[in-house]
Amino acid sequence: MDYVSTRGAAPRLDFRGVTLAGLASDGGLYVPAAWPHFSRDEIAALNGLSYVETAVRVMRPFVGDALGEEELRSLCTLAYGRFAHRAVTPLVQLDAQHWLLELFHGPTLAFKDVALQLLGLLFERFLQDSDAHLTVIGATSGDTGSAAIDALAGRAKVDIFMLHPHGRVSDVQRRQMTTVKAPNVHNIAVEGNFDDAQALVKAMFADRDFAGRFTLSAVNSINWARLMAQIVYYFYAAVRLGAPDRPVAFSVPTGNFGDVFAGYAAAQMGLPVARLIVATNVNDILHRALSSGDYSAGEVTPTAAPSMDIQVSSNFERLLFDLDPAAVPGQMTAFAQDRAMHLTDAQRHGASTLFGSARIDPDGMAMAMRWACEGSGQVLDPHTAIGLAAACSAGLPADVPVVTLATAHPAKFRDAVERATGIRPSLPSRVGSLFERDERYDVLPAALGPVTAYIAERATPARA
Ligand SMILES: *Cc1c(COP(=O)(O)O)cnc(C)c1O
Repeated sequence: MDYVSTRGAAPRLDFRGVTLAGLASDGGLYVPAAWPHFSRDEIAALNGLSYVETAVRVMRPFVGDALGEEELRSLCTLAYGRFAHRAVTPLVQLDAQHWLLELFHGPTLAFKDVALQLLGLLFERFLQDSDAHLTVIGATSGDTGSAAIDALAGRAKVDIFMLHPHGRVSDVQRRQMTTVKAPNVHNIAVEGNFDDAQALVKAMFADRDFAGRFTLSAVNSINWARLMAQIVYYFYAAVRLGAPDRPVAFSVPTGNFGDVFAGYAAAQMGLPVARLIVATNVNDILHRALSSGDYSAGEVTPTAAPSMDIQVSSNFERLLFDLDPAAVPGQMTAFAQDRAMHLTDAQRHGASTLFGSARIDPDGMAMAMRWACEGSGQVLDPHTAIGLAAACSAGLPADVPVVTLATAHPAKFRDAVERATGIRPSLPSRVGSLFERDERYDVLPAALGPVTAYIAERATPARA
């Protein structure tokens, strides 16, 4: 399988190449040159398979020759063996129409573990027979950072520098990152918001001098391997609810558009998806883009669902490219200049056939939390509650099962959960003595100079 950049000016790469590169050299994102297709029979044959076996079948075409099937299976077995639930991503029923797909049984309590546990192993595998040393640079609104650090801590030939917005992640999220002692882990608290941190990461990748001295890679969802790993659970859930005979809808709490783009990929591969509901909080750029074609960034409003407090949604570019590739370079130039651009008719029409969207305010979120608690005893985190509120407002026919992706464990955001429901969820034992360990991080201004200097001082140059 070959991968091409959404901006059309970077070399085609194979799976190993895109995994190690992260971002394309022309500033675009890598996407498969063509979607692999699964027939109805191939989808039906997934029924009853374990999570690992489903993962191998779904990911095999994307991996191509970069790994043998047995190798892929053994990496998946290792990655998903670290999950605390035997089903890895279990479905929980809420009422006659609604289900939760619990994606938070990994080591750091959010769905990011599903992809990052595998990505950490892929990095190690692909670096094994090379003399390259990888410098991973990422920005996090909280969950990517903890999941990436857990996945990469102590791994050979990799350093990780994680930027988080200072004071804007939950205490659990921050401690999951800053209490990790491995010497290859570096935490930077940026004096700004998530978009500032993400912009710094993009600028470092675009800085030829800096990028030339190190072998940079990304763990944000701009890295294709992450999205690939997330396609798996759409298949896993849908076949359990009747696919390929019955179409299934998904509601996805959305920030950077990575998770929901994985759902779009599943649909392109042949999975019968009735609807993909893009659930946003009051930071609603995606809701506006999908409902009116206006993709314009406003100011970020901090909310109880910080992983969705985003105005620039990187992976949306992948969708725009899939729907109207020629328009993308111009649109991205316009967006870089004006922080605003318009979807083409082809993009608007193409998106509307599959996507719905909803903007959920804090009251809607709290109501969904209480509804789940009262009706089925389920305690939801704020992100999942936004997804459920959007699912309930989508007006889908009663015979279409609607799966809300439960993206974080409620204990990860226990203050917000307690405010809405009066219940304070306790941390599962697998996170250990998080509040007794020492923290280690540095605070830097949201400016390129100081951040690159900090990293350059500590990272290993490209060839040792
Ligand atoms: C990252 C995250 C999201 C948003 O996912 P995207 O792939 O960025 O759209 C939603 N909920 C939680 C809990 C997250 O950690």
